[in-house]
Amino acid sequence: MDIRAKLLSLIQVAEGPLSTDCWLWIGARNNWGYGYIGYSGWSEGVHRVSWIVSRGPIPNGIYVCHHCDTPNCFRPDHLFLGTPQDNVADMIAKGRYRGVQQIRLAAERSHDR
Ligand SMILES: [Zn+2]
Repeated sequence: MDIRAKLLSLIQVAEGPLSTDCWLWIGARNNWGYGYIGYSGWSEGVHRVSWIVSRGPIPNGIYVCHHCDTPNCFRPDHLFLGTPQDNVADMIAKGRYRGVQQIRLAAERSHDR
């Protein structure tokens, strides 16, 4: 199945914190609430795949962050690119900071991208 069709087949449109509705992924999710999808031979974050198909490649070490603070949302205009530092600052600013381990995992993740 085409990746865009696959994304749109598992969507739930729901009211979010922004003026436009969130597109929630109703497929597989990881422990942090991020949706995952098989893409290019591995499991990739749905929000990342959404960015790639709608806007193009994500630079190495760069995160796809959420304006709407809804990890499971993959609406392209709710997403923005940030560095791991931006992402951590964003998490702290939004009260999503959950301690050292998450930052360490985030840093490790950025190394293999
Ligand atoms: Zn959203």
